[in-house]
This record gives sequence, C-alpha cells and structure tokens, in this order.
Amino acid sequence: MEEREQQEREERSRAPHGVGHGPQGSSPKGLWAALLSIEDNRMVIAEKKIVQIDYSLRTDAGDLVDSSEDEGPLSYLHGSGQIVPGLERALMGLAVGDARDVIVEPVDGYGERDPDGVFGIPKTAFPDAAALEVGASFVGEDEEGNSLPVRVIALEGDTVVVDANHPLAGERLHFHVDVRAVRDATDEELAHGHSHEGGGHHHH
Ligand SMILES: [Zn+2]
Repeated sequence: MEEREQQEREERSRAPHGVGHGPQGSSPKGLWAALLSIEDNRMVIAEKKIVQIDYSLRTDAGDLVDSSEDEGPLSYLHGSGQIVPGLERALMGLAVGDARDVIVEPVDGYGERDPDGVFGIPKTAFPDAAALEVGASFVGEDEEGNSLPVRVIALEGDTVVVDANHPLAGERLHFHVDVRAVRDATDEELAHGHSHEGGGHHHH
C-alpha cells in the first residue's frame, strides 16, 4: 500500500508541467512544438469547420444579385454543400482576415440552363389564375412529389409558361469574399449538416 503511493508520487513528479511532452526550453524539439501550436491557432477553412463570410455576388454584367450587407455575415458548414461548389472549393485553406475575388463558372455554380426547365401549365391548374403575372414565383411539385420552385415567364392564352431553372443558372458568378471567422463545428451541427449561428432560417 505504502509502496504503491510512493510509486504514484514518483509518476506525478515525472509528468510534464507544460502542455507539451519531451524536452522543454530552447531545444530543437521544443521549438518545433511551439511552431506547431502557432500553426494550430491559425485555423483554416476545411471540412467540418463553421465558417463566417461577408460576400457580394455579381453577374458577368456587373449586376449585384446578392450580398451579406443587409443580413450580416453568412455562417455555413464547410463541405456540406450549403454554398455553390466552386466557391466552397476556392475558400478551402483560407483563414480569418483573408479576402478573395472568386469567379465561378456555371457548372460549379447554379448549373447550366436546362431548356426543359421551361414548360407550359394550363391556367386551370392554378387556384387564382386571374392574379397570375409575369415574374411571379411559386412552388409546384414534380412527378416525384419534390417541391419545385418556378417563375412565370409568359402568359399565352390558356397556358402559363414557367421556368424552373435557378435564376442564376447559366451565369458566371463573381464573388468577393472576406473570411470573418472559422471554428470547429459542434456535434449537433455536424449531425444536422448546417451551421447553428445567427439567421432566422432555422428549423428546430
Ligand atoms: Zn439544425
């Protein structure tokens, strides 16, 4: 019994006082450990990180179509497909304070325009056909019952012509991005596949 206590005391006294193991002070190993810990503090964007960005999005024509200016920085879970693939790839490895201009081709953005996305629906399919006008959007359903947002692009007699393409399909996207914050995602965020920061777009 006494012998065991003695042994434990010895083990405690041998334990390193700092966070690191191995030689302390100015030995090459100690220096290496210090450099590694500096690198750890500079958290970079990678899978499973929650990233906060300010951004603006313009088309080739220079029209501003989206920006974080009104609603504040966007918070997203990196690697979850919450932002377009081309932008997600370009942000990989960046750190807080980094800024980038990123040009994303349609294929890595909102996709190419699909001509089959434009089709006619009989006016009688709408509960309030008289109120329909060009530019109105609504959510329909495809054959599998998935919700399908469409925009009215023309009214032709008894037919309503709609476009199911994303409004930015076929557009080259010009982003300007400022990285505001990077942190590890919580287990809950990883389970849900999205960030739990800010935003009124929450589903719980
Ligand atoms: Zn959630």
